[in-house]
Amino acid sequence: MRRTLFEEEHDLFRASFRRFLDKEVVPRNDEFERDGVMDRSVFARAGEAGFLGMDVDEAYGGGGVRDFRYNLVIGEEVQAAAVNGAGLGITLHNDICLPYFTRLTDDDQKARWLPGICSGELVTAIAMTEPAIGSDLASMTTTARRDGDHYVVNGSKTFITNGINADLVITAVKTDPEQRHAGMSLLVLERGMDGFERGRNLAKVGLHAQDTAELFFTDVRVPVANRLGDEGAGFRYLVTNLPQERLSIAATGVAAARAAFEWTLAYCRERQAFGQPIGSFQNSRFRLAEMATEIEVGQSFVDRCVLGLNAGELTAEEAAMAKWWCTELQGRVVDIGVQLHGGYGYMAEYPIGRAYADARITRIYGGTTEIMKEIVGRSLGV
Ligand SMILES: Cc1cc2nc3c(=O)[nH]c(=O)nc-3n(C[C@H](O)[C@H](O)[C@H](O)COP(=O)(O)OP(=O)(O)OC[C@H]3O[C@@H](n4cnc5c(N)ncnc54)[C@H](O)[C@@H]3O)c2cc1C
Repeated sequence: MRRTLFEEEHDLFRASFRRFLDKEVVPRNDEFERDGVMDRSVFARAGEAGFLGMDVDEAYGGGGVRDFRYNLVIGEEVQAAAVNGAGLGITLHNDICLPYFTRLTDDDQKARWLPGICSGELVTAIAMTEPAIGSDLASMTTTARRDGDHYVVNGSKTFITNGINADLVITAVKTDPEQRHAGMSLLVLERGMDGFERGRNLAKVGLHAQDTAELFFTDVRVPVANRLGDEGAGFRYLVTNLPQERLSIAATGVAAARAAFEWTLAYCRERQAFGQPIGSFQNSRFRLAEMATEIEVGQSFVDRCVLGLNAGELTAEEAAMAKWWCTELQGRVVDIGVQLHGGYGYMAEYPIGRAYADARITRIYGGTTEIMKEIVGRSLGV
């Protein structure tokens, strides 16, 4: 079945982004994996080429087109090129952080931040998780006490994607620690603010080219002008933006599964055992058939959700369904891919081996599978 989602301009954008990856990321990906971080100059190159802030108004240096299909193309090509760790920095910047800067900012904030976000001079991150809380966000303990025209921020965050490269960190804080959801606000912490320190770039099982860091805040004075939206409305803003974040993760999950399938199919055609290609064993054919089928099912749902998001109709429940199902699909497919590659599947130099390690986190970050099922389940009135 031909996907009916894309038009000619998306195909051109895809070809151009693929060339960008082939030139700027693929040849250096091993270096980024070794360093545990992508060279931040890649953000600037991506910005120059028009791959950041596609939906930001042109007046601020963006593409001026509100169409998540472009984001989808980027996520898919990153997976096909097997540069997941590095690519996550770009998808997080575009798909997950950017909406906070376009939807919640006043004119001054837009003028301060959007041009740099689109050019790649300002790399973004979002910091919700703390050492003691992840799923239960309302229990966070990072505080922001008002002091004149500043907030004084104290606390810490962990597991923050782009944590080393980020210049602007959307930070969830408690402006009223007595309250749970209603006490949360969002502040933008900037590189270089006194008392804002980075901790370790955390050593992970996969996604090695992605910087995932700890952040520490000690009496950081953050101007009130760095608050996004209203005080006390932080949780509502997070809930509003999470469907796009979750769809982004779901879409890359299906794309990762598709990439794993393609590598496995090619391997099954070429690798011989007992005098025949391993793909000709009935078990291999069945497994490949299962992979191919499930990917098409997942893709159809993701494509519908993308159109729903573009139309402003994607619900939190639909995004949660897409996130848990597509990332579980990714896990199943990549696991079969490793099995069919035999011992080579376990080698880091094979894309399927890396994809296996990279895949495990997608069922956890952006809200775990269990939390996604809670969101869907609660909506069923049970
Ligand atoms: C590589 C990586 C990148 C990340 N990037 C970011 C980032 O950029 N910004 C950010 O803020 N965070 C980020 N995170 C954090 C991530 O979102 C959290 O790890 C995730 O939300 C889970 O929180 P937790 O680790 O505290 O687990 P917990 O909340 O402690 O959960 C532990 C287990 O308990 C289960 N559980 C918890 N509550 C319930 C419940 N009510 N019902 C059923 N089961 C439940 C969970 O599903 C899970 O299986 C990242 C994490 C990693 C590893």
